[in-house]
Amino acid sequence: MNKPGLLIRAHGGFFDVQTEEHGLLRCRARGRLHLDRVEPLAGDRVLWEMDIHHPEYGILTGIEPRKNAFIRPNVANLDQMIFVASMARPQTDPFLIDQMSVVASVAGCDFILCLNKSDLNRADELAELYQNCGFQVIRTSALTGEGIDKLRSVLAGRISVLTGNSGVGKTSLINLMIPQLNRETAEISEKHGRGRHTTRLTELFSMPEDGYLADTPGFAALEIDKLTELPAEELAFHFSEFPSGQCRFPDCRHINEPICGVRSQVEDGRISESRYSSYLRLYQQLSKNRSF
Ligand code: GDP
Repeated sequence: MNKPGLLIRAHGGFFDVQTEEHGLLRCRARGRLHLDRVEPLAGDRVLWEMDIHHPEYGILTGIEPRKNAFIRPNVANLDQMIFVASMARPQTDPFLIDQMSVVASVAGCDFILCLNKSDLNRADELAELYQNCGFQVIRTSALTGEGIDKLRSVLAGRISVLTGNSGVGKTSLINLMIPQLNRETAEISEKHGRGRHTTRLTELFSMPEDGYLADTPGFAALEIDKLTELPAEELAFHFSEFPSGQCRFPDCRHINEPICGVRSQVEDGRISESRYSSYLRLYQQLSKNRSF
């Protein structure tokens, strides 16, 4: 009898599955999985049964259809992406925030903005800008501990990942929330004169209150490449603060058409210039991809 479970980690041909009946159960894959050539990923909702020949193991028999799948970190069924940004060194380019918010929206996962290094710069303007767009914004400092409880609380009951450009403090935040992981921060790896490992397989770390956090943060350049599949004319739907149905033309691109609801809101300040300029930049990129 096949039973449901959540794949927590895959390594060396073994799959650790969180099950109701046996807690964390080590499984091996069988038959159809190999034939289907689907590589099971952390975050996969899987089916399993007991291995009658080896009662300490289970057998992975199937993978439920995925809601989404990411390359770096290598996880499936992500509920939310927590984008860590900083307005201290290194300063995050708001375009990156907007680009990743579109990646998240296309993948059907929520996007939360975490403004880290609040001890150095509270980033009030940026916080207000993104709150006005309807995003949840959390201010944190890995140094003083500000916002860490809040960050923990948004992880409850969901599968999450921390993403963001290098140096903003993702590893430091993970280490604060999950001290037993003890990942190497940029500071430590510089001290030892080595780069950090980037090839590790992703695992889900079980958080209190049923949440899971991917243990490897990443800046998903590869995910951004995947955006090329998005038709440019659908881009505006992923800028959720842009009004719909307020343009003269139903297929308005919000670039230079007369009577455009989006541009009129940019002009009167309801839509931020910086979000609109990210929209234009992404629109241009997406329409260029199309002409190949
Ligand atoms: P990652 O590349 O995003 O994983 O960033 P790290 O966690 O490795 O942090 C990069 C550097 O920023 C390290 O030197 C950290 O000690 C430092 N750092 C991280 N978070 C904070 C913070 O909230 N405040 C301050 N002042 N420094 C921080």
